[in-house]
Amino acid sequence: MKILVPVKRVVDYNVKVRVKADGTGVDIANVKMSMNPFDEIAVEEAVRLKEAGIATEVVAVSCGVAACQETIRAAMAIGADRGILVESDAELQPLAVAKLLKALCDKEQPTVVICGKQAIDDDSNQTGQMLAALMGWPQATFASKVLLADAGGQMRATVMREIDGGLETLEIKLPAVITTDLRLNEPRYATLPNIMKAKKKPLDTVKPADLGVDVAPRLATLKVAEPPKRSAGVRVADVAQLVDKLKNEAKVI
Ligand code: AMP
Repeated sequence: MKILVPVKRVVDYNVKVRVKADGTGVDIANVKMSMNPFDEIAVEEAVRLKEAGIATEVVAVSCGVAACQETIRAAMAIGADRGILVESDAELQPLAVAKLLKALCDKEQPTVVICGKQAIDDDSNQTGQMLAALMGWPQATFASKVLLADAGGQMRATVMREIDGGLETLEIKLPAVITTDLRLNEPRYATLPNIMKAKKKPLDTVKPADLGVDVAPRLATLKVAEPPKRSAGVRVADVAQLVDKLKNEAKVI
Protein backbone atom coordinates (compact mmCIF):
# COMPACT_ATOMS: atom_id res chain seq x y z
CA MET A 1 0.00 0.00 0.00
CA LYS A 2 1.35 3.35 -1.05
CA ILE A 3 0.64 6.48 1.01
CA LEU A 4 1.01 9.95 -0.48
CA VAL A 5 1.63 12.78 1.97
CA PRO A 6 1.40 16.39 0.72
CA VAL A 7 3.72 18.62 2.76
CA LYS A 8 3.57 22.40 2.56
CA ARG A 9 6.43 24.81 3.25
CA VAL A 10 5.07 27.56 5.48
CA VAL A 11 6.38 30.32 7.76
CA ASP A 12 7.57 28.59 10.96
CA TYR A 13 4.90 28.61 13.67
CA ASN A 14 7.24 30.41 16.10
CA VAL A 15 7.70 33.40 13.79
CA LYS A 16 5.62 36.49 14.44
CA VAL A 17 4.50 37.32 10.91
CA ARG A 18 4.63 40.87 9.58
CA VAL A 19 2.36 42.32 6.94
CA LYS A 20 4.12 43.99 3.99
CA ALA A 21 3.98 47.77 4.08
CA ASP A 22 1.85 47.90 0.91
CA GLY A 23 -0.73 45.49 2.40
CA THR A 24 -0.36 42.95 -0.44
CA GLY A 25 0.59 40.01 1.79
CA VAL A 26 2.83 38.68 4.53
CA ASP A 27 6.54 39.45 4.38
CA ILE A 28 8.43 36.16 4.02
CA ALA A 29 11.83 37.61 3.10
CA ASN A 30 14.50 36.21 5.48
CA VAL A 31 11.86 34.46 7.57
CA LYS A 32 12.34 30.92 8.93
CA MET A 33 10.26 28.43 6.94
CA SER A 34 9.28 24.92 8.09
CA MET A 35 6.95 22.07 7.29
CA ASN A 36 3.31 22.82 8.10
CA PRO A 37 2.85 21.24 11.59
CA PHE A 38 -0.25 19.24 10.56
CA ASP A 39 1.78 17.78 7.67
CA GLU A 40 4.47 16.59 10.08
CA ILE A 41 1.70 14.71 11.87
CA ALA A 42 0.60 13.28 8.49
CA VAL A 43 4.14 12.11 7.67
CA GLU A 44 4.50 10.57 11.15
CA GLU A 45 1.21 8.69 10.75
CA ALA A 46 2.19 7.37 7.31
CA VAL A 47 5.61 6.27 8.60
CA ARG A 48 4.00 4.52 11.59
CA LEU A 49 1.69 2.67 9.16
CA LYS A 50 4.77 1.59 7.22
CA GLU A 51 6.56 0.50 10.41
CA ALA A 52 3.44 -1.50 11.34
CA GLY A 53 3.73 -3.37 8.02
CA ILE A 54 0.47 -1.91 6.66
CA ALA A 55 1.98 0.55 4.18
CA THR A 56 4.84 -0.34 1.86
CA GLU A 57 5.86 3.10 0.60
CA VAL A 58 5.48 6.69 1.79
CA VAL A 59 5.80 9.41 -0.85
CA ALA A 60 6.08 13.07 0.24
CA VAL A 61 4.91 15.73 -2.22
CA SER A 62 5.37 19.46 -2.02
CA CYS A 63 4.10 22.07 -4.47
CA GLY A 64 5.87 25.42 -4.65
CA VAL A 65 9.26 27.06 -5.06
CA ALA A 66 12.54 25.10 -5.36
CA ALA A 67 13.19 25.53 -1.61
CA CYS A 68 10.24 23.17 -0.92
CA GLN A 69 12.87 20.46 -1.47
CA GLU A 70 13.95 21.16 2.12
CA THR A 71 10.43 20.37 3.31
CA ILE A 72 10.46 17.11 1.36
CA ARG A 73 13.89 16.22 2.83
CA ALA A 74 12.46 16.93 6.30
CA ALA A 75 9.65 14.45 5.55
CA MET A 76 12.25 11.93 4.38
CA ALA A 77 14.19 12.42 7.61
CA ILE A 78 11.05 11.40 9.52
CA GLY A 79 10.82 8.31 7.29
CA ALA A 80 9.22 9.06 3.89
CA ASP A 81 10.83 6.89 1.20
CA ARG A 82 10.91 9.32 -1.70
CA GLY A 83 9.72 12.73 -2.72
CA ILE A 84 8.12 14.66 -5.57
CA LEU A 85 8.51 18.41 -5.94
CA VAL A 86 5.98 20.13 -8.17
CA GLU A 87 8.03 23.21 -8.82
CA SER A 88 6.31 26.51 -9.46
CA ASP A 89 7.04 30.13 -8.59
CA ALA A 90 3.35 30.99 -8.97
CA GLU A 91 1.07 31.58 -5.97
CA LEU A 92 -0.57 28.16 -5.54
CA GLN A 93 -4.09 28.33 -4.15
CA PRO A 94 -5.80 25.23 -2.65
CA LEU A 95 -7.70 24.38 -5.87
CA ALA A 96 -4.48 24.47 -7.89
CA VAL A 97 -2.71 22.26 -5.31
CA ALA A 98 -5.67 19.84 -5.28
CA LYS A 99 -5.50 19.59 -9.10
CA LEU A 100 -1.73 18.96 -8.98
CA LEU A 101 -2.24 16.29 -6.31
CA LYS A 102 -5.00 14.71 -8.42
CA ALA A 103 -2.62 14.46 -11.37
CA LEU A 104 -0.03 12.82 -9.10
CA CYS A 105 -2.64 10.44 -7.64
CA ASP A 106 -3.63 9.39 -11.17
CA LYS A 107 0.03 8.61 -11.84
CA GLU A 108 1.12 7.17 -8.49
CA GLN A 109 -2.12 5.35 -7.55
CA PRO A 110 -1.77 5.69 -3.77
CA THR A 111 -4.26 3.85 -1.55
CA VAL A 112 -4.38 6.70 0.96
CA VAL A 113 -3.52 10.39 0.84
CA ILE A 114 -2.86 11.86 4.29
CA CYS A 115 -2.95 15.68 4.27
CA GLY A 116 -2.79 18.16 7.09
CA LYS A 117 -6.20 19.50 8.07
CA GLN A 118 -5.05 23.01 7.23
CA ALA A 119 -1.98 24.99 6.35
CA ILE A 120 -1.08 27.47 9.09
CA ASP A 121 -0.30 30.22 6.57
CA ASP A 122 -3.58 30.43 4.64
CA ASP A 123 -5.76 28.52 7.16
CA SER A 124 -7.83 27.41 4.15
CA ASN A 125 -8.71 23.87 5.25
CA GLN A 126 -9.69 23.09 1.65
CA THR A 127 -7.02 21.13 -0.21
CA GLY A 128 -7.75 17.63 1.14
CA GLN A 129 -11.49 18.06 0.67
CA MET A 130 -11.05 19.37 -2.89
CA LEU A 131 -8.68 16.52 -3.75
CA ALA A 132 -11.21 13.93 -2.49
CA ALA A 133 -13.92 15.59 -4.60
CA LEU A 134 -11.73 15.68 -7.72
CA MET A 135 -10.79 12.01 -7.27
CA GLY A 136 -14.34 10.92 -6.37
CA TRP A 137 -12.87 9.35 -3.22
CA PRO A 138 -14.28 9.25 0.34
CA GLN A 139 -12.73 11.64 2.84
CA ALA A 140 -12.33 11.69 6.62
CA THR A 141 -11.11 15.03 7.91
CA PHE A 142 -9.67 16.12 11.30
CA ALA A 143 -8.55 12.59 12.18
CA SER A 144 -7.47 11.92 15.77
CA LYS A 145 -7.12 8.14 15.24
CA VAL A 146 -6.70 6.08 12.07
CA LEU A 147 -6.99 2.31 11.67
CA LEU A 148 -6.56 0.64 8.29
CA ALA A 149 -7.77 -2.92 7.80
CA ASP A 150 -8.80 -5.38 5.14
CA ALA A 151 -12.52 -6.16 5.49
CA GLY A 152 -13.33 -9.10 3.21
CA GLY A 153 -11.01 -8.06 0.39
CA GLN A 154 -11.89 -4.36 0.64
CA MET A 155 -9.42 -2.10 2.43
CA ARG A 156 -11.19 0.25 4.82
CA ALA A 157 -10.18 3.02 7.18
CA THR A 158 -11.81 3.58 10.54
CA VAL A 159 -11.22 7.20 11.43
CA MET A 160 -12.02 8.93 14.69
CA ARG A 161 -12.53 12.65 14.06
CA GLU A 162 -12.71 15.61 16.35
CA ILE A 163 -15.93 17.54 16.02
CA ASP A 164 -17.47 20.30 18.15
CA GLY A 165 -19.59 17.96 20.25
CA GLY A 166 -16.92 15.31 20.84
CA LEU A 167 -15.59 12.44 18.73
CA GLU A 168 -17.16 10.92 15.64
CA THR A 169 -16.06 7.58 14.15
CA LEU A 170 -16.33 7.04 10.40
CA GLU A 171 -15.62 3.99 8.29
CA ILE A 172 -14.58 4.72 4.72
CA LYS A 173 -13.51 2.61 1.77
CA LEU A 174 -10.04 3.06 0.37
CA PRO A 175 -8.67 4.74 -1.68
CA ALA A 176 -9.48 7.83 0.34
CA VAL A 177 -8.21 11.15 1.64
CA ILE A 178 -7.60 11.56 5.37
CA THR A 179 -6.64 14.88 6.99
CA THR A 180 -4.85 15.08 10.33
CA ASP A 181 -5.81 16.86 13.53
CA LEU A 182 -3.38 17.85 16.28
CA ARG A 183 -3.98 14.90 18.58
CA LEU A 184 -3.45 12.14 15.97
CA ASN A 185 0.16 11.61 17.09
CA GLU A 186 3.29 13.36 18.28
CA PRO A 187 5.80 13.51 15.42
CA ARG A 188 9.27 12.20 16.22
CA TYR A 189 12.35 14.39 16.04
CA ALA A 190 14.47 13.58 13.01
CA THR A 191 17.79 12.14 14.17
CA LEU A 192 21.05 13.28 12.60
CA PRO A 193 21.69 9.88 10.89
CA ASN A 194 18.18 10.02 9.43
CA ILE A 195 18.73 13.60 8.23
CA MET A 196 21.90 12.38 6.50
CA LYS A 197 20.11 9.35 5.02
CA ALA A 198 17.32 11.60 3.74
CA LYS A 199 19.80 13.47 1.56
CA LYS A 200 20.30 10.29 -0.51
CA LYS A 201 16.63 9.39 -0.99
CA PRO A 202 15.14 9.89 -4.48
CA LEU A 203 13.45 13.24 -5.18
CA ASP A 204 11.83 13.90 -8.57
CA THR A 205 10.94 17.35 -9.81
CA VAL A 206 8.07 18.06 -12.18
CA LYS A 207 6.39 21.26 -13.35
CA PRO A 208 2.62 21.92 -13.29
CA ALA A 209 2.68 21.94 -17.14
CA ASP A 210 4.16 18.40 -17.14
CA LEU A 211 1.05 17.34 -15.20
CA GLY A 212 -1.24 19.30 -17.54
CA VAL A 213 -2.50 21.53 -14.72
CA ASP A 214 -3.32 25.23 -15.05
CA VAL A 215 -2.40 26.74 -11.67
CA ALA A 216 -3.59 30.29 -12.39
CA PRO A 217 -5.07 31.81 -9.20
CA ARG A 218 -8.87 31.93 -9.09
CA LEU A 219 -9.06 34.24 -6.07
CA ALA A 220 -7.62 37.76 -5.77
CA THR A 221 -6.35 39.03 -2.40
CA LEU A 222 -7.68 42.56 -1.98
CA LYS A 223 -5.83 43.54 1.18
CA VAL A 224 -3.88 42.02 4.07
CA ALA A 225 -3.88 43.94 7.37
CA GLU A 226 -2.53 43.41 10.90
CA PRO A 227 -5.22 42.68 13.50
CA PRO A 228 -6.09 45.78 15.58
CA LYS A 229 -3.88 46.24 18.65
CA ARG A 230 -5.52 45.10 21.88
CA SER A 231 -6.19 48.01 24.22
CA ALA A 232 -5.05 47.76 27.84
CA GLY A 233 -7.47 46.30 30.38
CA VAL A 234 -8.66 47.96 33.61
CA ARG A 235 -8.79 46.57 37.13
CA VAL A 236 -12.20 46.83 38.76
CA ALA A 237 -12.65 47.34 42.50
CA ASP A 238 -15.38 44.78 43.08
CA VAL A 239 -18.04 42.59 41.49
CA ALA A 240 -20.61 45.37 41.56
CA GLN A 241 -18.35 47.61 39.48
CA LEU A 242 -17.66 44.73 37.06
CA VAL A 243 -21.37 44.08 36.58
CA ASP A 244 -21.96 47.82 36.12
CA LYS A 245 -19.27 48.04 33.42
CA LEU A 246 -20.52 44.93 31.63
CA LYS A 247 -24.04 46.34 31.68
CA ASN A 248 -23.46 50.01 30.90
CA GLU A 249 -20.11 50.19 29.08
CA ALA A 250 -19.69 46.90 27.24
CA LYS A 251 -23.47 46.44 27.09
CA VAL A 252 -23.08 42.66 27.03
CA ILE A 253 -25.48 41.86 29.89
P1 AMP B 1 -4.98 24.21 3.10
O1 AMP B 1 -6.18 23.71 2.35
O2 AMP B 1 -4.20 25.25 2.34
O3 AMP B 1 -5.31 24.67 4.51
O4 AMP B 1 -3.97 22.97 3.24
C1 AMP B 1 -4.38 21.70 3.76
C2 AMP B 1 -3.32 20.65 3.49
O5 AMP B 1 -3.14 20.49 2.08
C3 AMP B 1 -1.93 20.95 4.02
O6 AMP B 1 -1.83 20.60 5.40
C4 AMP B 1 -1.07 20.06 3.12
O7 AMP B 1 -1.14 18.69 3.53
C5 AMP B 1 -1.79 20.18 1.78
N1 AMP B 1 -1.19 21.31 0.99
C6 AMP B 1 -1.69 22.56 0.83
N2 AMP B 1 -0.87 23.30 0.04
C7 AMP B 1 0.17 22.50 -0.30
C8 AMP B 1 1.35 22.66 -1.09
N3 AMP B 1 1.64 23.82 -1.69
N4 AMP B 1 2.18 21.60 -1.22
C9 AMP B 1 1.90 20.41 -0.62
N5 AMP B 1 0.82 20.21 0.13
C10 AMP B 1 -0.05 21.21 0.30
